[in-house]
Amino acid sequence: MTATVTPATAEQSVLDDAREQLAQAVEVLGLGAEVHAMLVEPRREVSVSIPLRRDDGSVEVLRGYRVQHNYSRGPGKGGVRFDARVDLDEVRALAMWMTWKCALLDVPYGGAKGGVRVDPRNYSKGELERITRRYTSEIAPLIGPEHDIPAPDVGTDEQTMAWMMDTYSVGRGHTVLGVVTGKPIAVGGSLGRAASTSRGVVAIALEALRHLEIPVVGARAAVQGFGKVGRGAARFLADAGVRVVAVSDVYGGLYDAAGLDIAALEEHVDATGSIVGFPGAEAIEGEQVLTAEVDLLVPAAVEGVIHAGNAEDVRATVIVEGANGPVTAEADRLLAARDVLVVPDILANAGGVVVSYFEWVQANQAYWWSEDEVNERLVERMTRAWRDVLHYAAERRLSLRLAATCMAVERVYRAHEVRGLYP
Ligand code: NAD
Repeated sequence: MTATVTPATAEQSVLDDAREQLAQAVEVLGLGAEVHAMLVEPRREVSVSIPLRRDDGSVEVLRGYRVQHNYSRGPGKGGVRFDARVDLDEVRALAMWMTWKCALLDVPYGGAKGGVRVDPRNYSKGELERITRRYTSEIAPLIGPEHDIPAPDVGTDEQTMAWMMDTYSVGRGHTVLGVVTGKPIAVGGSLGRAASTSRGVVAIALEALRHLEIPVVGARAAVQGFGKVGRGAARFLADAGVRVVAVSDVYGGLYDAAGLDIAALEEHVDATGSIVGFPGAEAIEGEQVLTAEVDLLVPAAVEGVIHAGNAEDVRATVIVEGANGPVTAEADRLLAARDVLVVPDILANAGGVVVSYFEWVQANQAYWWSEDEVNERLVERMTRAWRDVLHYAAERRLSLRLAATCMAVERVYRAHEVRGLYP
């Protein structure tokens, strides 16, 4: 199978985009250059070498990162990405967005992110375990339930988290369940965590459709990415009566004007590893999913996929950012000019960190909640945040992204202010 890859554009980098969003929020809030200077740079970052013995006996040296953008409101929190495009600037941008996401949802964390520059599809399970364990031991001085708590992201999953938890615990001499979230249930994971990001994305998407007075039942949606976030989002949308007419993964796209049978598609993906070849739907280019004739578009793959080169072709009325940073700053301006509502990542995909927080609370108390309890608390927090952002944006005539960023930056700034500057 060959991968469809988004063409590179001459736009600014994902880190420049993240920094621009911060600068705009600081300006709206009137916080000044010193506050901007304190928030624009990561508090701490590490770059590590990961020597890997491959299954054939050869040795390859990989590069990994962990960035803690801010921990004024609590320990760092953020996923670990295994992807061939990972670099330090991407991790810095993602760590900054985690700071805002945690503050916006009012979970008591700062922002962090990690990554290893590796395409996991080219490595055996044993090799991935060795990469994960060596990466974990290299960043171990930085992480811990009170310091920084990793979670899954692109290219990692609950098995990765189990290896991370085990490696960290072996180093400590006792089991430390709270060091990562997104773990398997058997080792202290939370019921409802695996689907939490998708559940949150869809809770927000349904709110956005209602806000725009688009009837949910029969509304048309397209979902880019069919991984941990996109797949669940497609399923929950279909469960709500939305017609999911187009989906894609890194290998290609599918279209069915009547709505794809998501349950059957999930079985196909479990059997083959990709959406490609699913019978009963038209095969399309992956990129076409972004410009399909739909009411709702959920980009749930990687950053920068909606850019100046294709923003004008987006037909959706509302974009709900399942992925982090899928819309570039330039595309954001073009979409705003056309009145396309963009629900920003730090709000839309925060369900994962909310239930990660619930998992950490449960692990620290060694007392586990029912799945219904987790899901109810999740949806309640997400819809409250949606209403708060909508209200803040309307009062000040801001985009939802700028409103959400302002709310978050203000909370982080308050924490800085009250703690004071050391020494
Ligand atoms: P994943 O690795 O489970 O899935 C990624 C999916 O995107 C795969 O289906 C892959 O084939 C597809 N993909 C990759 N590049 C693509 C491209 N160019 N075009 C189309 N499809 C492409 O990752 P995930 O955990 O689902 O994460 C997806 C996004 O959501 C990322 O931006 C991530 O940071 C964000 N996110 C994830 C979580 C979480 O809990 N996993 C939480 C918040 C945000």
